Amino acid sequence: MPIHRSVKTLISKAGWHAYNTYRKGVHYHFKLSRVAVLLEAPRETIEAYQAERLEELLRHAYQTTPYYRELLKTETPNIAEIPPLEKKHIREQLDALCSTAFTEAQRIENATGGSTGTPLTFYQDRNYWNQRNLSVYYFDRWAGWNFGQPQLVIWGAPVDLENDGHWKHRLGNFWRNQQWLNGFHLTDTAMLEIFEQMEEAPPQTILAYPSSLYQFATFLSENGLIPQWNLKGIIASAEMLHPHYRALAEIVFKAKVYNRYGGREVGLIGMECAEGRMHINCRDIYLEIDSPDPYSEPGEILITQLNNYAMPFIRYRIGDIGMLSDEVCPCGNSLPILAELLGRTTATFRTRMGTLIHGGYFTRQFYGVKGVNQFQIIQETLKHCVLKVVVNRQWTEATRRSLVQCIQKALGEEVVVTVKFVEDIPLAASGKREYTISKVGTPATD
Ligand SMILES: [Zn+2]
Repeated sequence: MPIHRSVKTLISKAGWHAYNTYRKGVHYHFKLSRVAVLLEAPRETIEAYQAERLEELLRHAYQTTPYYRELLKTETPNIAEIPPLEKKHIREQLDALCSTAFTEAQRIENATGGSTGTPLTFYQDRNYWNQRNLSVYYFDRWAGWNFGQPQLVIWGAPVDLENDGHWKHRLGNFWRNQQWLNGFHLTDTAMLEIFEQMEEAPPQTILAYPSSLYQFATFLSENGLIPQWNLKGIIASAEMLHPHYRALAEIVFKAKVYNRYGGREVGLIGMECAEGRMHINCRDIYLEIDSPDPYSEPGEILITQLNNYAMPFIRYRIGDIGMLSDEVCPCGNSLPILAELLGRTTATFRTRMGTLIHGGYFTRQFYGVKGVNQFQIIQETLKHCVLKVVVNRQWTEATRRSLVQCIQKALGEEVVVTVKFVEDIPLAASGKREYTISKVGTPATD
């Protein structure tokens, strides 16, 4: 590493340490080593920790929030019997969900676009954020990240980018030693520019939206640009990581992609290890699957956030579908494994027989079909689907037939598929690309 780069790394590392220690009061080196002790402990230790934290949270929620006092009826309820917290409850009863133990000034407002673009506002406290950051630091190290080490960030959440170009954002990037590529405006010029910059000063890790990562990888591969960055790892977060995204990124960047699963409402939920299993962040999260048998039948993921005392999230229906595994991970970590993360409920289709078809089924079949530049499949009703396509000259009647058949094969022969030719398929309000949307059979939670 050239001297000026080592110096930059050192400055960033020291700056970050000073910032966290003196401004936020988090002695992260010390705290991080304690986080590691817990997250690398045997299963019994982790379960005992969770049980204790859960009890504490439920007592706090009962004692200080009008919503949970009414709902729980007791300080020591059985968690499995508590009705899940839906997004509509947050919209309709935001004040009643806030703890009276926190003043308005102590609450930190946050929001998410939601998968259908309807914003959801909620509150978190300082401790939630400190714990959330510690978890991100801990788990990102699995992918080769470390304090002060150079990172390329390909990101584009509107809330995150409000301050783009602002001095605070720039200063933050300096301390964090991050280079940003705006995932919302991935123009050829911007991608070429960042590629050239990275050739000069290579990143050690990449943090990206999977779809932006894929777009960048496609651009590089189509233009014969071969990164020589010696990356330690790539962290993909905030969207569904499709197998073809992962495959292309791993070839182009010659590094492993680590899937990080989380949500603005509850923080980091799970992280993939070097063996490709997603471990659950049991320090911050108590995760349940709403299914008769979470080990064999996928169901909706329910999250209890253990640190956010300003506004407790108990059995929060986050809107994703998943399944557990009882496998012992070869990586040696004892945190439980989320076996199947099937993504958004809005992307999971339902047949007339009640079978769940994951949106990934369609993206796998449609990916690479000649004649199609972009597509989006919308399940309007159990009997009707709309397929939007942006086509090119290679599109033929046979292509149309085979795509329609593919949908009917999954959802039923009797399903009517309307093919709509469009000029463009815009990104969702959240800035994410939605290939599959189902308006059928998902609870009205978003
Ligand atoms: Zn593992």
